Amino acid sequence: MTALYLRARVMTCNGPAPDPLGLVDDGAVLTDGAQVVWVGAAADADAACRALDVVPAERVDLGGRLVTPGLVDCHTHAIFAGDRAAEFAMRARGEGYLEIARAGGGIAATLGPTRGASDATLERLTVDRLMAARATGTTTIEVKSGYDLTVAGELRLLRVIARAGAHAPLAVVPTLLCHVVPPERRADRDDYLHELVTALVPAVAADRLATSVDVYCDDGAFTRDETARILVAARDHGLAVRAHVGQFTDQGAAELAAGLGARSVDHLEQVSAAGIAALAAAGTVAVMLPGACVQLRLPPPPVAALRAAGVPLAVATDLNPGSSYTTSLPLQMWLATTHLAMTVEEAWLGVTRIAARALGLADRGVLAPGARADLVVWNAEHPAAVPYQYGASLVERVITAA
Ligand SMILES: [Zn+2]
Repeated sequence: MTALYLRARVMTCNGPAPDPLGLVDDGAVLTDGAQVVWVGAAADADAACRALDVVPAERVDLGGRLVTPGLVDCHTHAIFAGDRAAEFAMRARGEGYLEIARAGGGIAATLGPTRGASDATLERLTVDRLMAARATGTTTIEVKSGYDLTVAGELRLLRVIARAGAHAPLAVVPTLLCHVVPPERRADRDDYLHELVTALVPAVAADRLATSVDVYCDDGAFTRDETARILVAARDHGLAVRAHVGQFTDQGAAELAAGLGARSVDHLEQVSAAGIAALAAAGTVAVMLPGACVQLRLPPPPVAALRAAGVPLAVATDLNPGSSYTTSLPLQMWLATTHLAMTVEEAWLGVTRIAARALGLADRGVLAPGARADLVVWNAEHPAAVPYQYGASLVERVITAA
């Protein structure tokens, strides 16, 4: 159904410098329900409709509110069962993430509940999280597997992610995540790697269960060489590559991932100047995950150096039961602009256009003709209001492409 949204402060997130947010103060957006058809000044809307031979079925007065593209959460672990509230309490008392992980907590503590949950339970838990994300403005969300870690179990998680996506009114992008070597395979680590590259990755590609493969390269996860083996296998099977890089230690994975043409590298609390230069040269997106950074009391990633090198910056929730149990991108925008010293403009582009780029999606994250008709109307006028009033829900309505 065609709809013309009028009296809107339109933020296209598609403007050229020096106004990358592309603000149109008294603006209008015309959609056909599936795609944006036209964006411009409200004064030009009727002429545009005539020129396009469109009579809008609906004319919606937005009362001067801010209208933006639907938000894109490009990094989540939204499929899991159980929680790790006890670990949160331990960290609040001062215990470290890696010490807790070595004592049997961390990712391994989520494997049992997730492996033991039925498909129906996992689907319900995931859909609940997707709906919570949508309520804060998210209209496209990436969901990684990674809390089963067996070949059959990871394929199951990806199938459940697809079903959850089919039952929730937002777009879901599944990713295969090679998260860690599971405890029961540490003794035959090399055989496990062999299974990942010869069975799991090919099966994911053959059944089109994910468009990209992500590897967690860090102390306690995969080594740089192991990461290279998995990512090369992914690329050989036509899958895009991403990596969790430098959260705790710099393993040189930013250079590795950039060299393989990675869509993104995520975390980056620890990255060398050479790593940053490699990301810039490859055009790889750096995904900032400020919630996990703050919660684990890590030093902030080098945003100023990434910016100076021209590395595109995205911002995501890292929704997961261990280090960032949240579905809210506006909350991450607050952390990005305060703790990580990103600008308001960078935070907005990081949850819209640049986040879409991290997922390889050119049809969203902006309000422009041909983009998906995913819009958020905010109870705000100034773009800064959304991170500024942190913790408040300023979402007036979320419109997703039909
Ligand atoms: Zn993550």
